[in-house]
Amino acid sequence: MNFLYGKMQTILVLAPGLTHTRAGHPENHTRMTAVQRSLERSGVLADVTAVSPQPASIEQLRRVHTPSLIERIRTVSRIGGGLLDHGDTYATADSYELARLAAGGCCTAVDQIMNGSARNGLALVRPPGHHAESNRVSGFCLFNNAAVAARHAQANYGLKRVLIFDFDVHHGNGTQEIFYDDASVLFTSVHMFAPYFYPGIGSFDEVGHGAGVGYTLNVPLPPGVGDVGYCRVMNELVRPRVEMFQPEMILVSVGFDAHWQDPLASEGLSLTGYAKIARNLIELADKLCNGRILFILEGGYHLDVLTAGVHNVIYSLLGRDEILDSFGAMPYAESDVTQLLHKLQNRHLPK
Ligand SMILES: [Zn+2]
Repeated sequence: MNFLYGKMQTILVLAPGLTHTRAGHPENHTRMTAVQRSLERSGVLADVTAVSPQPASIEQLRRVHTPSLIERIRTVSRIGGGLLDHGDTYATADSYELARLAAGGCCTAVDQIMNGSARNGLALVRPPGHHAESNRVSGFCLFNNAAVAARHAQANYGLKRVLIFDFDVHHGNGTQEIFYDDASVLFTSVHMFAPYFYPGIGSFDEVGHGAGVGYTLNVPLPPGVGDVGYCRVMNELVRPRVEMFQPEMILVSVGFDAHWQDPLASEGLSLTGYAKIARNLIELADKLCNGRILFILEGGYHLDVLTAGVHNVIYSLLGRDEILDSFGAMPYAESDVTQLLHKLQNRHLPK
């Protein structure tokens, strides 16, 4: 182990939201009980510093969300819970407080990293956030945790450039909407893009609006892209774009549903591929912004993949070589990304 990344350098914020749950719903509390049990069993918790999450203040939430969205979630919780949209985004009696804790927990992690108490970290929070727009909940997400954390970093520490890198298999429509006309946050989403696949946006042509043109980078992948394609996207497109941007902090929306075993999607990443992307991002943070990087959990619905993937992120943050991967690589041929990459390079990188 590299001594620079030793104990006390990596923080873990846990806001598992256990009573935000619904039987038969894929985004339920068992995702986090499985992760917690597995972290306790493996002993890795001894190597990270656990930090208690603080609930997000109304001021922190209002930097990202409208008062009416905040009030709506609060009201539905107060009456005992129910559906928040016409799809499958639910709240229980506790969800308002738990969602505040999830968003606030990410801000707590930003504080630790920005004040130098930690080098990097992982926020294991529920409910997830990246589909939540300024005035609309969607896709199991209530408050947009990564967006609230980014605005907190800007408001409290004066950061001029924050990168949000999202590689959940679903497009981070909420994060995109919140920062669409904003050049101070580079939003990069690598996601599956196919007919009828949620949320249905995140196309090549969505690049930002007004002052934000060029600060939204969507990588809409066909189904079946595996480790080779993702690695090319990282090295030939994301890395050079991020190096141009020079972020002062990196926030990562990490969802483990791009794994080839995930029941909700059809991408082909392996756990080893996930770990390599995590290391790539950590290396970028080390090079560009003093190692300041925070991973924030979004989706991931195969519990064994989720628990191993979380371990691999922690190992990567700690600078360890170890990778858990009992599933191996996708056993099918990968979809090719060459043409897509050329199109995106022409659009987003200097000629
Ligand atoms: Zn997802």
